[in-house]
Amino acid sequence: MATKRTPSFDSHNPATGEVVGTYPIVSGKQVVEIVSHAREASHQWEKLGFNGRKKVLLAWSSLIIRRIDQIAALISLETGKPLSDAKLEVSIAVSHLGWAARHAEEIMRTSYRAPGLLMANMSATVQRSPLGVVGVIGPWNYPIFTPVGSISYALAAGNTVVFKPSEFTAGVGVWLEETFNEVAPFADIFTTITGLGETGGALCTSGVDKLSFTGSTRTAKLVAAQCAATMTPVVLECGGKDPVIVAADANLARAVDATMWSAMANAGQSCIGAERVYADEKVADKFIELAVELAQTIHAGAPGDGNYGPATMPSQIKVIQSHIKSAIKDGGTCAYGGSASVQPPFVQPVILLDVPENSAAMREETFGPIIIINRVKNMQEAIELANASTYGLGANVWSKHQGKRIAGKLACGMVAINSTFSFAAIASVPFGGVKDSGYGRVHGPEGLLEYTYARTVVRTRFNLPIKFLSFKRRPKDDTLVITLTKWLKGRLG
Ligand code: NAD
Repeated sequence: MATKRTPSFDSHNPATGEVVGTYPIVSGKQVVEIVSHAREASHQWEKLGFNGRKKVLLAWSSLIIRRIDQIAALISLETGKPLSDAKLEVSIAVSHLGWAARHAEEIMRTSYRAPGLLMANMSATVQRSPLGVVGVIGPWNYPIFTPVGSISYALAAGNTVVFKPSEFTAGVGVWLEETFNEVAPFADIFTTITGLGETGGALCTSGVDKLSFTGSTRTAKLVAAQCAATMTPVVLECGGKDPVIVAADANLARAVDATMWSAMANAGQSCIGAERVYADEKVADKFIELAVELAQTIHAGAPGDGNYGPATMPSQIKVIQSHIKSAIKDGGTCAYGGSASVQPPFVQPVILLDVPENSAAMREETFGPIIIINRVKNMQEAIELANASTYGLGANVWSKHQGKRIAGKLACGMVAINSTFSFAAIASVPFGGVKDSGYGRVHGPEGLLEYTYARTVVRTRFNLPIKFLSFKRRPKDDTLVITLTKWLKGRLG
């Protein structure tokens, strides 16, 4: 907790406005000191080896599971989401932690490569090493699932981690550090620093070896610019405007159920939440009818009351309201709810229809419990409109027979066919986006390798009588290379 002199900030219960906790604003100077301690610890953490780290990470995972009620209650308090959603979030986070711990060794195993004809006397290998210290900056919408998707993979790869949680969910960040330290073999392996944007900025320029950011596209650009000054590489997991494509052969009951949950659960505050639906005109009316029926059965409210909670970040309410208004002004209609559904801090479900593609409501991330359903003539039109966004995070396709074909044409990082959100819960597949949704990946082997670097090691196995890489190269060596190049049409390597 903050002392009187330390600048501090409060985190709030968004449903009531009550203060949940007060946390220090860690200064830029302190961030540099903390990163330097993390760097010292990184050597020992790497030396512990895969088995040693696996033991620690699995012990942490067991501790989190044992205290699931405690952490879920804190998540619910700081975000306003229902307790059962918070528990589901913790369960998925823990599954990533366990997967990273169990698979790091195999993913980072030295790989052997073909040396090619010209270098046939060499062995060619690629080793993987941890980077050192990884900085993680997190958002508030999934305050354990999202950062743990970076933290656990970075730790399993042998890095130490300095984590700056969102100021809206600082308590969850502190809880993660405290529980990790209960199982940690020594200090400074995983440290949480609390603060506002400036503390995050200080982490970018603190000399960390990589910065893993999850948050809005606007902040991601600032993070990338700050990191550029110190050549700090970045992973950027940003916002989305995920499309849902509904084909004429879709199972409509399942498609509506999953799409409405994807759009409205967590008060619509999911980076991979459904925001726009492109439904084949042959089934669009039925899809809308079922969606309205379902909307009538759900409502926003405080944990214990609502199917989903309040807007966690009060300022988002303005964005949500402005998108509803612009959708209507631009020619869209309301099938369910409307401007009056915005009842701060809650937003009741809203279904909008036939909103023009150039409307802000169709282009920008709304991050609220709103779904827009537009009709399309065919799947080609649906694909084109889905891809016309500046974002490219996730997508959903509902079709009995065309799912894979449509998925293969979508410009985004992840597609769920006849399902929603599921890729986030499969630890073995990478998670991330293209375009304004960011670059780099978390989760899976690709996500773990983000926190390593490749070291190529080649070794002479036997000496050849020819000398290519020497001032002693003879004309007959040149002749051999040129003859082989011509004969093999350049395939020497
Ligand atoms: P945000 O960009 O406002 O904040 C994210 C983090 O960045 C916070 O910890 C904040 O303190 C920090 N920050 C703010 N200014 C900074 C600066 N100048 N330098 C460094 N750090 C700074 O995002 P948010 O509102 O917390 O989260 C919501 C956004 O996150 C949405 O756009 C959502 O789509 C996105 N998101 C993406 C994913 C994904 O995996 N792609 C997952 C969850 C959330």
